[in-house]
Amino acid sequence: MKKKIKNEKLMTQAEYIKHRELNEKLMTQAEYIKHRELICPFCKSENVSGSYIEVDRTEALQDMTCMDCNRDWTDIYKLVGFEY
Ligand SMILES: [Zn+2]
Repeated sequence: MKKKIKNEKLMTQAEYIKHRELNEKLMTQAEYIKHRELICPFCKSENVSGSYIEVDRTEALQDMTCMDCNRDWTDIYKLVGFEY
């Protein structure tokens, strides 16, 4: 049986609406890729942090976190060639 967490707090109506608004303002993939600086795709903050980069032959994944809105996402890198 699942125990209910005592300190669980329901979002307020205002928080819920704000959350929905944030979701609607998500950048498009193209906008995100074109941006020169590493930024949060949700709130466009530059205060972001990346964890280690996981490479899987032709693709690399990096879990990212925004220090301002606390959202997480994964940056996806693709192999485009080699140089020597
Ligand atoms: Zn953010």
